[in-house]
Amino acid sequence: MSDYQPLRPTKGPLGKLLAPVAGFGVTLGSMFRPTVTEQYPFEKVPTPRRYHGRHQLNRYADGLEKCIGCELCAWACPADAIYVEGADNADVLAETGGGQVSPGERYGRVYQINYLRCIFCGLCVEACPTRALTMSNDYELAGPTRAGMIYEKQDLLAPPAEGTLATPHPMVEGTTDTDYYQGSVTAPTAEQVDWVREHRPDDPTLEAATAVVQGSRPAPQPTVHTLRPPATKATATREAARGGHAGDRTTDAPGGPLSAALDAPGSTARARATVGPRLAAGSAREGSTETGSTHEGGAR
Ligand code: SF4
Ligand code: SF4
Repeated sequence: MSDYQPLRPTKGPLGKLLAPVAGFGVTLGSMFRPTVTEQYPFEKVPTPRRYHGRHQLNRYADGLEKCIGCELCAWACPADAIYVEGADNADVLAETGGGQVSPGERYGRVYQINYLRCIFCGLCVEACPTRALTMSNDYELAGPTRAGMIYEKQDLLAPPAEGTLATPHPMVEGTTDTDYYQGSVTAPTAEQVDWVREHRPDDPTLEAATAVVQGSRPAPQPTVHTLRPPATKATATREAARGGHAGDRTTDAPGGPLSAALDAPGSTARARATVGPRLAAGSAREGSTETGSTHEGGAR
């Protein structure tokens, strides 16, 4: 005879009688709960702040691109979804008579992400040394063709924020690429505007950048990538309750949700020690045009 002893108590006579229909209890209980059907695509529910969506290539506050074509993102990608070809800014300097695409020696001439391969792991964002690559909250990536799912640089590059200059143009005088990385450049300068006016008088970004230089409009604000506007009042309310789609997925302004969580009684000393400095760093970078997810839209 077996000495097996069940851990769960055995059912009594009433339990045995109702056992065949017990499963319907879940069904009956669910019938009286409010429906949770999402009315997509008419209502777009906001994603979590750190959602991994479409990638974005970011710019500095004067409009120069952050990508230096180093290919580290491509090497880090486990799905072999990224293809990068770098090129020399010296060639652009010679061609344009002084303009360049990014600060420093190199820029990303070709940049492709194959979204049929990408698993949205974010390792490419972790690998990027300049915070050029971040991920947005955009999840609507379906397409009718395979070729159309290979996003090119022009699909991924953030457009110049209002008040910044389109590339190519010179770096801010007297700065290095390190100054750019450290956030010392917060707006285009008069020399850069003059250069663009001389070489591309019809450039559409000139007017707003000129106003910034003249002080008649504020310096460019960081671009925040968001989903399309909510379709209904209900989704707008939910989005507001969640704090909206902040572009920065890893940093948070003082008083923001992350700061509040750290200040909460349950927050551990370790969390405050590890996340606190990143909060401070994020506040210092507020002049940046990164988004990305919404991100300084980066999964970092
Ligand atoms: S998110 Fe992951 S899979 Fe997609 S491109 Fe980046 S590293 Fe590759
Ligand atoms: S996105 Fe970042 S890691 Fe990738 S090539 Fe550009 S600078 Fe290098």
